[in-house]
Amino acid sequence: MRFLKLFIALPFFVIGQNHEQFQFDGPAILIHGGAGGIERKYYTNEQIATYDSSLRVVLNAGYTLLDEGCSGMDVVVHCLTLLENNPLFNAGKGAVVTAEGTVELDASVMNGATKKAGAVAGLKRIKNPAKLARDIMEYTPHILLIGDGAESFAKTREHEFVENSYFLTAKRKGQYQRWKEMKKNGTVGVVLKDAHGDLYAGTSTGGMMGKQYGRVGDVPLIGAGTYADNHGAAVSCTGHGEYFIRENVAFQVNARMQFEGLTLEQSASRIIFGVLNEDAGNGGLIAIDAKGNATWTFNSKGMFRGAKGKMKTSQKVMLHTDIFGDPTWPENCGF
Ligand code: ASP
Repeated sequence: MRFLKLFIALPFFVIGQNHEQFQFDGPAILIHGGAGGIERKYYTNEQIATYDSSLRVVLNAGYTLLDEGCSGMDVVVHCLTLLENNPLFNAGKGAVVTAEGTVELDASVMNGATKKAGAVAGLKRIKNPAKLARDIMEYTPHILLIGDGAESFAKTREHEFVENSYFLTAKRKGQYQRWKEMKKNGTVGVVLKDAHGDLYAGTSTGGMMGKQYGRVGDVPLIGAGTYADNHGAAVSCTGHGEYFIRENVAFQVNARMQFEGLTLEQSASRIIFGVLNEDAGNGGLIAIDAKGNATWTFNSKGMFRGAKGKMKTSQKVMLHTDIFGDPTWPENCGF
């Protein structure tokens, strides 16, 4: 059944699983577009198809570049930029808003071969935060720049500036009016193994709807929302950031693999279904290791997600996307 699910060429899957694993041979990419109270009943077929095709566009673009031998960092930033420019997702255009009705963006990227990382927080005018995070990694001695300081550095690197209102879509304005009832999260993330065998991760977000002005979530904190290490895994998280910060989730996936000897899949499940659940934290992650093992795992109702790569067993290239979760997971997960 699992085998069938992976290979039948359906346009999308309406019944998903909160935990899946893949084994890839060669370059491979996984993306997410946020986790949260994403349930079938809230979406029309057209909306599902639009989300699905948006995920596929990014996966196809990313995989093509990886297959051509492009550096993983170029691909991570390219894919994050596509997702940031897509108003469907909570990153860049379409980001959620603060309690004051403005948009503040966070992002980070990490290279698993060098462990170099770059991050930004509290951006109000930079169109593509992931690009700026990369430039901070490459052109400053620092890892994280915030607010005005980050934007002033951006002027030296020819980043595109926009008015804060550019990020606000009609949908987010409507959600802002009723944000107190909202449970849905967002965020976009990319993890991949490139043709050179190196791991990369990146994450970009508007944060949490109605967040306090100045609040910084897990996304720009290396080890919380994003981490990559060739000896462990590349990980990108989404969910209620305060819990991911407290538990250092992205690094903890790596730590449990390297120090506890768990597989990637075991480590991800232990953290999401064990540690995070016990803490009542909500969200999920995508991850890939240097052997090509990959997983997505989430304890929320759904997570926009997809993967593309050559399957180790069949040697066929698989493109798989999914949105909703399996509500029976607590009985099955074993933690
Ligand atoms: N983790 C993000 C934050 O807390 C939000 C999300 O993933 O939806 O800022």
